[in-house]
Amino acid sequence: MLLPLPEDWGRALAIVAHPDDLEYCASSAVARWTAHGKSVAYVIATRGEAGIDSMDPAEAGRVRTQEQIASARAVGVELVEFLDHPDGEVEYGRKLRADLVHAIRRHRPEVLVSLNPHLNTAGGGPNMADHRAVGTAVLDAARDAGNRWLFRRSSPDDLEPWDGVRMVCFAASPSPTHSLDVAEFVEAGIAALKAQHTYIAGLGEGSIPSTTCATRCRGRAAEQAYSWPSNSRCGPFRAAGHRWAGGRRWPGSLGQEVPHVLTQRR
Ligand SMILES: [Zn+2]
Repeated sequence: MLLPLPEDWGRALAIVAHPDDLEYCASSAVARWTAHGKSVAYVIATRGEAGIDSMDPAEAGRVRTQEQIASARAVGVELVEFLDHPDGEVEYGRKLRADLVHAIRRHRPEVLVSLNPHLNTAGGGPNMADHRAVGTAVLDAARDAGNRWLFRRSSPDDLEPWDGVRMVCFAASPSPTHSLDVAEFVEAGIAALKAQHTYIAGLGEGSIPSTTCATRCRGRAAEQAYSWPSNSRCGPFRAAGHRWAGGRRWPGSLGQEVPHVLTQRR
């Protein structure tokens, strides 16, 4: 039984590795939140430049940047930032951690949204290295952003610490515990996904989310939404089931299974 995802907050920051990550996993939820007056901004670690086999990375990065911005607009998000880490080669380390801490200090969110940081996807296959690196770094940055002695920048452009992150939500988790009804916002989510048409076209036939994946989505509307014409192959995607897992109190130990939804210190 999935718990309803708490919505007693006003400002969220979604941080993921690639253009398309949020569109496959969380954009209908984002549409719900922005429709309800919440502020949501996106930070994308790469520009997805290595994601289209038939397109030179420089061109792919330019195209996917524009498609990501269009996707964000489709669900009411105006602010999209790119950190320009190398697509496919994102490294967990000090640079990534610092960039995410600084993003959190700039945006001062109550809620962070990211993508499954586990070794395996919800479908049981191997999760991509970039997703693991960024998801884990998001979790760490949620805590580190509140420590004024970590990841300082040279004055005068240093940022005030921010310890106001109350919850970190990982979409597409293999062990979800929370969900959100997005029946009214599925169309917006689909529009966001379709805005990435160059990327989707580059994947070729059979890479559209399937009804098999859709069974993981909550609600009939969501299931319909992802019953796109396809040959029922999931490909590399996760379905856009808006599920978050949770249960462990903050701070979780990264030496163990990474916790999913964290309630921080309150
Ligand atoms: Zn991705």
